[in-house]
Amino acid sequence: MINRAFTVAIDGPAAAGKGTVSRAIAAHFGFAHLDTGLLYRATGLRTLDGTEAVEAARALRASDLDDDDALRTPDVAQAASRVAALPDVRAALVDFQRAFARRGGGAVLDGRDIGTVICPDADVKLYVTASDEVRAERRHRELCGKGHEVTREQVLADLRSRDERDSARAAAPLKPAPDAIQLDTSEMSIEDAVAAAIAEVAQRIDSA
Ligand code: C5P
Repeated sequence: MINRAFTVAIDGPAAAGKGTVSRAIAAHFGFAHLDTGLLYRATGLRTLDGTEAVEAARALRASDLDDDDALRTPDVAQAASRVAALPDVRAALVDFQRAFARRGGGAVLDGRDIGTVICPDADVKLYVTASDEVRAERRHRELCGKGHEVTREQVLADLRSRDERDSARAAAPLKPAPDAIQLDTSEMSIEDAVAAAIAEVAQRIDSA
């Protein structure tokens, strides 16, 4: 346990293993965890019902993040990536994320712009990547496990189109912070990736 605010920022492209690494860090150190992708997914989901994107982001409630199954579909992922390119949508979600990051007892936030825009002063920054093929394979397995009927090729195309949109947008594009530690999980087991990330955080806590 840590008594003060301590922020871990984890960024990277879709399905690189950010969620697994973030949850493991949070569990290991007793930190709170926020998957910021859910904020954009919940906003995107509301736009699929016809709500205007900025209005949807401003009206977001914590309970909107609860229905994991509804938020983790390929259609909602694409809708999330589209609304995430709008500067006013991003602006509507900043305060919530920063307040979460500053809470006492430690916080892990994962997303695309945590180390660059939301928490540029984070105590630890990780940029988690993996090859396109490995990411598509992992996400395909995950979606099939939940009963979605998608092919590996469709998953690969979805990841690539989202990464392209997320990296090319003018507002808070996906990119590593200059001081982020890069963790390429393509050839790593989940256990090794988690152990490497925990070791980085432990080292920073010791030297803080
Ligand atoms: O992380 P996840 O794949 O759930 O995120 C869904 C989409 O939300 C991403 O493709 C991206 O467009 C957007 N996002 C973002 N900034 C974040 C987190 C997610 O733009 N911090």
